[in-house]
Amino acid sequence: MNNVKHEGVLVYIEQRESEIQNVSLELLGKGRELADKLNVKLSAAIIGSDIKNVEILNHYGADNVIVVEDKKFEYYITKTYAKALTSIINTENPEIVLIGATSIGRDIAPRVSARIKTGLTADCTSLDIDEEDNNLLMTRPAFGGNIMATITCSEHRPQMATVRPGVMKKFVKDENRESVIKYHSVDINENDMDVEVLEVVKEEDKKISIEDAKILVSGGRGVGNKENLSVLSELADLLKAEVSGSRAVIDEGLLEKDRQVGQTGKTVRPDVYFACGISGAIQHIAGMEDSDFIIAINKNKEAAIFDVADLGIVCDLNKVIPCLIEEIKSHKL
Ligand code: FAD
Repeated sequence: MNNVKHEGVLVYIEQRESEIQNVSLELLGKGRELADKLNVKLSAAIIGSDIKNVEILNHYGADNVIVVEDKKFEYYITKTYAKALTSIINTENPEIVLIGATSIGRDIAPRVSARIKTGLTADCTSLDIDEEDNNLLMTRPAFGGNIMATITCSEHRPQMATVRPGVMKKFVKDENRESVIKYHSVDINENDMDVEVLEVVKEEDKKISIEDAKILVSGGRGVGNKENLSVLSELADLLKAEVSGSRAVIDEGLLEKDRQVGQTGKTVRPDVYFACGISGAIQHIAGMEDSDFIIAINKNKEAAIFDVADLGIVCDLNKVIPCLIEEIKSHKL
């Protein structure tokens, strides 16, 4: 470790078209908790070209907000953004850096960690401080999700971790928190601008992302086929819910990959999660166990999904779901 004193927690705030992403607010919640345990400051670092409403970052727990704003940051480009974030870290010298494990976060985090010669633990599901030596304890599934590994980065600073959306809880918003914003400038030269964005073509998607859905109707291998899945979709439409699934149904091509819940899919935390024909493998449970209310329908009463369910229905889903649909329709709920 070099002799520079590293202190404080820094969260990289991801914005897309000036909109601050939820995962960054969730990380501020965890960052606040870690900073309080270490008795240090929590900083939020945001990079972009038209940055708005940054005071919200103070309301969600940050002590300071560091802004890098320039037309050159209009689009996310790995090289320019990695340079800017590296520059912020080298100036602020935090001891912990947290980044959302989004497509952007997964791109920028390893670039930055290599530039500043430190370690990075990806896809952490829990973060804490070791009471003995104040190291960051970074826990994530390992060996195919069969064990949880707690990793430390004791020889280098800062300690860097990425966390997927939906895993951490936001700090309760407090609009009375003081707003402290400082501007940081980064010299972006022609060599850094070797990628030119000609056009941004957005994928047409009218569906709500499963991470944002309040109710999820999730199907597993037990659903069997497309016809049965369409019955799940009918239930979802009636409940204004979204359809998601286990990896088994994604692998069978019944649902798109962005609908997969679990360790290698999305982490979700809806108000209600219907698990229909899902056995409850550890890799699936890792992505949905924090749902507020879990309803499991499975014909095998020994299925592990019942261990995390608030309401368990031991029955053939092809009998239960049509009944549920009829019931909802008859009550015009
Ligand atoms: P099964 O385990 O086959 O379960 C089907 C269930 O349906 C059974 O419990 C059965 O009793 C029930 N059933 C059958 N017919 C009916 C019926 N008519 N009515 C009611 N119930 C019925 N999985 C994920 O989901 N998400 C992940 O992100 C993920 N990541 C993984 C990462 C790694 C590295 C590995 C090794 C595995 C991963 N998996 C993941 C796969 C995981 O281990 C399981 O294989 C998978 O979750 C099983 O899906 P399932 O529950 O739909 O299918």
